[in-house]
Amino acid sequence: MGLPKYERIVLKLSGEALAGRQDTSIDPSVISAIAEEIKELVDMKVEVAIVVGGGNIWRGMAGSARGMDRATADYMGMLATVMNSLALQDALEKTGVPTRVQTSIEMRQVAEPYIRRRAIRHLEKGRVVIFAAGTGNPYFSTDTTAALRAAEIEANVILMAKNNVDGVYSADPTLDPDAVKYDTLTYLDVLNQGLGVMDSTASSLCMDNDIPLIVFNISTRDNIKRVVCGEDIGTVVRGNV
Ligand code: UDP
Repeated sequence: MGLPKYERIVLKLSGEALAGRQDTSIDPSVISAIAEEIKELVDMKVEVAIVVGGGNIWRGMAGSARGMDRATADYMGMLATVMNSLALQDALEKTGVPTRVQTSIEMRQVAEPYIRRRAIRHLEKGRVVIFAAGTGNPYFSTDTTAALRAAEIEANVILMAKNNVDGVYSADPTLDPDAVKYDTLTYLDVLNQGLGVMDSTASSLCMDNDIPLIVFNISTRDNIKRVVCGEDIGTVVRGNV
């Protein structure tokens, strides 16, 4: 597969990537398979930061649609990401990879608070850093967290792992047989066409800071390594084509 193309990456895992096929919100066997693949990147000396979502447990929008206060529901979503991050940390450490979880909402008994320079130092020492609790602010998403943290730690790329879809399509490929897959896109395309890659706050943050994004299917074994080694799988989104 060759040498890694990127030195420092942000891997965005949605909460659903950690859920099993059965009705479990966190499936340890699914998580340990992902952890094994992440270990291979660390062994290749790639610096890996991870942002984990929480949608497998709780989404703020769903709570507010059912009458909850939006900010409260969003804080619950951020706490859900902490649970996922701890599960991922556990799986990674079982493979022998040193990790640190940093939370945007302080909970010192559970994890370190987010400190940018410290996160960079961990990465330089070969530790995987898992950014938990989103941005710490309601009305944001973990996609925006990935964009923000990628800018802060000067990551080369964001790898956005999707379940069972291998990139960005013109329409939902499970519903529309005429949907076509894009190999490359600009953030303006994503915003103008309303493509469901990431929310508009995250897209504009990536666009303004010139952070490339690769959307790929994590359900296929070795895909994370393929993307990191520069194979053309998935869809690449950039500021300019
Ligand atoms: N969230 C938030 N602020 C953030 C990040 C996340 O309020 O900076 C909340 C929001 O309610 C969101 C939930 O946490 O619905 C879970 O995150 P997300 O939906 O991004 O997870 P994913 O879809 O990636 O599993």
